[in-house]
Amino acid sequence: MLSKKMIPQSDTHIAVHFVDAEKKLPEYSIPHKHDNDEINLILSEDSKLKYKIDLEDETYTVTSPCTIFIPKGLTHSAQAISGKGMFVCIILSDGHSSK
Ligand SMILES: [Zn+2]
Repeated sequence: MLSKKMIPQSDTHIAVHFVDAEKKLPEYSIPHKHDNDEINLILSEDSKLKYKIDLEDETYTVTSPCTIFIPKGLTHSAQAISGKGMFVCIILSDGHSSK
């Protein structure tokens, strides 16, 4: 949706994923970290999209609508458990380096 590739002046990376928990896992479900803060928005029409969020060694189960703040340097992953909706990933710079 927005990245340095599209708009070089932009320092923000925004990706919107349409999610169906029945379907194959997307790439961000693999634990990774960034040099920048990240914000995730989990949205759905019927507030039934459920996610498992791992932040370092802590695990949270969240249900839409919700906002997740991931401080830079923290290893994290997100995995849809049930429902359908949207997963919005905002990284406050384009330094998306997986490790
Ligand atoms: Zn991330």
